[in-house]
Amino acid sequence: MTAIRLCAAFAAALTFACAPPRAPLPTIEAARETSPVASPEDAADDPAIWIDRAAPENSLILGTDKQAGLYAYGLDGGVRQFLPAGALNNIDLRQDAAIGDWTGDIAAASNRTDNTITLFTIDRGVVARTGAFASAIVEPYGLCMGRGEDGVLVFVTYKTGDLVAYRLTAPDAGAEIARLKLKSQLEGCVFDDDAQLLFIGEEGRGVFKAPYADGSLGPPVAVDRRGGPGGLVPDVEGMSLYKTGDRSGYLIVSSQGDDSFAVYDREGDNRFIGRFRIGDGAAIDGVEETDGLDAHSAPLGPEFPKGVLVVQDGFNLPEGAAQNYKIVDWRAVEAAIGLAE
Ligand code: CA
Ligand code: CA
Ligand code: CA
Ligand code: CA
Repeated sequence: MTAIRLCAAFAAALTFACAPPRAPLPTIEAARETSPVASPEDAADDPAIWIDRAAPENSLILGTDKQAGLYAYGLDGGVRQFLPAGALNNIDLRQDAAIGDWTGDIAAASNRTDNTITLFTIDRGVVARTGAFASAIVEPYGLCMGRGEDGVLVFVTYKTGDLVAYRLTAPDAGAEIARLKLKSQLEGCVFDDDAQLLFIGEEGRGVFKAPYADGSLGPPVAVDRRGGPGGLVPDVEGMSLYKTGDRSGYLIVSSQGDDSFAVYDREGDNRFIGRFRIGDGAAIDGVEETDGLDAHSAPLGPEFPKGVLVVQDGFNLPEGAAQNYKIVDWRAVEAAIGLAE
């Protein structure tokens, strides 16, 4: 529990003022939630959505338990698989990825147990660990994947402010190709495969982006800073793209410090569009202090015709429940910030 949360609890009881005040924001509800992870306290961290192209309603949410391993959940929130793969922090995946003469669906996760990037394949809805390769710097923290013009990429962020780009050389191996250095602790990131552009979250400062070309990353420029148009309150945490076309769509960022989500234009100067919270519903509790998130625009059956936003929930209810992931109908996000046509 953060100081701010304690302060808010005392303020409610004693009616004294606590800073900073939380801005009122459009609030939506989650449609589903996953089973809690097995580990207590801070454990769930980052989800990644896998699309079952043959039967979209059978798509999976991969979610890390950063003390224990990897879950695969159905869209109903039930556990399909658990892989005890170590302290996996962030995860991302690419489908129909080509690595040498291998083609398939591959996921990568930052693993603090053995200081590796651990790799998994997803074949007809079954997740399997294929192998791992060493992190170039101790304690791989954040992670996102990309489809570069030169292959399948894994970007790993570090508490030192370093970011290392790796290229996969096999479904169980990778090698460093590039580095960037920002000022302070990094975590969330997302790569725009179409624009060849990497978005990076610097937890205390904001969101930056860097172009990728010919095996190297260009200098990072700011998308938004703490206290900027998007109202980001540190930590800046997970981020993802919701794609509506080859270049169009949205960038969604977790503003952990005020339990909100900021949405930006995917293109151009990444204009800030709006932000929202996920509040308590009749059956499912609201979302607080989100770490990782993922979004996908693929239709996932009648319940989610425009896809989903999946977010980690830092304070799952009922009281004492372990953390989990909340599943939000994208149409609720559209309505909250005025995206619907
Ligand atoms: Ca973090
Ligand atoms: Ca995190
Ligand atoms: Ca909650
Ligand atoms: Ca709950």
